[in-house]
Amino acid sequence: MNDPAQMSANLVVAGVGGQGVVLAGNIISEVTLAYGLDVKKAEVHGMSQRGGSVSAQVRFGPEVHGVLVEKGRLDWIVAFEWAEALRWLPLLGSHGSVFASTEQVIPPVSLRDRVEGKVRYPLEFTQHPRIRAFDASGLARQAGNVKTAGVALLGALSSALPFSVEAWHQAIKEWVPAKAVEVNLRAFDLGRQWQSAPPPRPVPVSELVPRQVWLSLEESWCKGCGICVNVCPERIWRLNERNVVEVQEVERCTGCGLCEKLCPDLAIDVVVESASAAAWGGAKLWQPN
Ligand code: SF4
Ligand code: SF4
Repeated sequence: MNDPAQMSANLVVAGVGGQGVVLAGNIISEVTLAYGLDVKKAEVHGMSQRGGSVSAQVRFGPEVHGVLVEKGRLDWIVAFEWAEALRWLPLLGSHGSVFASTEQVIPPVSLRDRVEGKVRYPLEFTQHPRIRAFDASGLARQAGNVKTAGVALLGALSSALPFSVEAWHQAIKEWVPAKAVEVNLRAFDLGRQWQSAPPPRPVPVSELVPRQVWLSLEESWCKGCGICVNVCPERIWRLNERNVVEVQEVERCTGCGLCEKLCPDLAIDVVVESASAAAWGGAKLWQPN
């Protein structure tokens, strides 16, 4: 493996607002700085406040002159969401590769069937041999908090870079709030241990089935700000007389995830499939379909 103090590389971290893309870019930069490397970083926040695309380009090496990566010069794409990886593939170099979460963030308008939640999603490119995709959110849940999925992806990326585990752990401690350090370190270690698995195959339209969506609310964290009430395209949340939200007509939920992403107090979880009531302890739980 390369001498870490001499290594040069271009990366992009891509995802949507609320997934921790900027944080991941900061952690990667911190690791490279620990080896005395020059690092340049550029972020694009776009419509991040509404779950839109967010990216962070990171270039590092003994000497780096420009901030932006040129076409064909990207060494790694770290994608927090499948479709966001697609946007960056044209920049990937001939030897470059992709670490991608299989999480799918589907804009509400892209749902084929808004009530049953059937969607078409661009999975065709997952068959590419240089794409290493895995369930980062599943690893994050295993670590103890689904919000650490991005750090699990960094763990997977770290196995392809010559920097020490200690340097990554130290960078995580620098950038993550003290109360969340332990769970993020667990997520990083699980991601680092992840081994390649076959990517998901594209699903023909004829095989699309309604998805199972679960909503959960940690009532004691809800401060009644009403953001979820206003952003939900299906108008499912409403404030009750205790100034806490509750659901109405839950069967209309499409699983778009906007309420989870925009709740400032992390009170809502939206999980598509793979959920069980036990996963949320005492949180209030609904299964719409
Ligand atoms: S956005 Fe979060 S804190 Fe605000 S009302 Fe909804 S659940 Fe409560
Ligand atoms: S409840 Fe949340 S996940 Fe369901 S449709 Fe509304 S914003 Fe989307």
